[in-house]
Amino acid sequence: MQTQFTLEQLARPDMARSEEILRKCVHCGFCTATCPTFLLLGDELDSPRGRIYLMKEMLENDRPADERTVKHVDRCLSCLSCMTTCPSSVHYMHLVDHARAHIQETYTRPLPERMLRRILSIVLPRPYVFRFALLGAMLGRPFKRLMPGRLKGLVAMAPSFVPSPSPVDRPQVFPAQGERRMRVALMNGCAQKVLDPKINEATIRLLTRHGIEVVVAKGSGCCGALTHHMGMTDESHGTAAKNIRAWAKEFAGDGLDRIVINTSGCGTTVKDYGFMFRNDPEYADDAAKVSGIARDISELMAEIGLEPTGRTPKLRVAYHSACSMQHGQKITKTPFELLSRAGFDPVPVPESHICCGSAGTYNLLQPEIAGQLQERKVANIETTAPDLVAAGNIGCIVQIASGTELPVLHTVELLDWATGGPVPELLEKRLAS
Ligand code: SF4
Ligand code: SF4
Repeated sequence: MQTQFTLEQLARPDMARSEEILRKCVHCGFCTATCPTFLLLGDELDSPRGRIYLMKEMLENDRPADERTVKHVDRCLSCLSCMTTCPSSVHYMHLVDHARAHIQETYTRPLPERMLRRILSIVLPRPYVFRFALLGAMLGRPFKRLMPGRLKGLVAMAPSFVPSPSPVDRPQVFPAQGERRMRVALMNGCAQKVLDPKINEATIRLLTRHGIEVVVAKGSGCCGALTHHMGMTDESHGTAAKNIRAWAKEFAGDGLDRIVINTSGCGTTVKDYGFMFRNDPEYADDAAKVSGIARDISELMAEIGLEPTGRTPKLRVAYHSACSMQHGQKITKTPFELLSRAGFDPVPVPESHICCGSAGTYNLLQPEIAGQLQERKVANIETTAPDLVAAGNIGCIVQIASGTELPVLHTVELLDWATGGPVPELLEKRLAS
């Protein structure tokens, strides 16, 4: 694609990167075939190619975002399916991230929308605030019919039970069982540890059982993805910088071999810290180091080798590959291989490349499209007649679980069980009956 950025514009690193990305696009439109929003809405402007044109026009002319561009960029899930399909290696993620930051800087959204985004950016990355908000939403459920539209939707999405905080989520070190093979930092995250603290507990048991020392570093927390995808650069870089500082202290102390992430949406962002901080002399080196040793839990388990007990039943597991896992991190076969080695019978889900509609805050900001994608995903999962569903991303787990009676677990809970951990709570009753 030809571009006409001025030299002055190209002196800005974000513009230079976007120009480089835009020039790679050859307008072939292959990406439209796998874009969930184009599939549902059928509008070229809701396809990757259409959005690329809109973003190019906005950035090249260095003009404030307009309503049309905002509408179609907002509808993008950042699922990155288009990046998997694109034969020209167009890095859509960096382009849309830049466009979102530009929109945030130059466009004034209607007040209710601004307020909703601001509230989400304050609540979701802060576990104590998020827990409090969920408890409030639970209490408000009986009155939801009296609430205005968007608030009613948000309250309806709140879980019916909010677990207590887990003691494993405090900063501490979990020693390896037996001879220590590695020392890793676990990114214990933000929303996940509120919604399902059992995931971090299972991860720590699994790793320590396999000879890995696990540290939950003081000062680490939210990866910044939720605000990053809303274009709130100061907020997202601020939280990312806290993680980099926390892990840099570990580099300088007892050292770290890996940083382990068990939410693939966060993993995609942590692996991009090196890019996000490339021009920041204070953080660039440590950020690059963090990204270099960041691994999804499935990657690490494949690296060190899973040691199953061989005593778990051969349950049929519909494995849902989160977009951030398959498109963002290109991890496709590994979780299947691990589940299979653990003694389960993993089956792929038809249309597995299509997003479930969770996508960070997307299901809260674009509930209609998210709802259609959820229905489609659940229908596809149920055609495989599984005993349960597994996924490696809390957003997908919550989104799918709210549309089906099937138990939906994190892959790590199954791997923990298969290597000597407890039976996951969700399966206990079913196995007993
Ligand atoms: S990121 Fe997903 S929703 Fe957005 S343009 Fe690409 S394929 Fe479509
Ligand atoms: S597939 Fe790639 S090169 Fe083709 S239109 Fe889409 S982004 Fe551009």
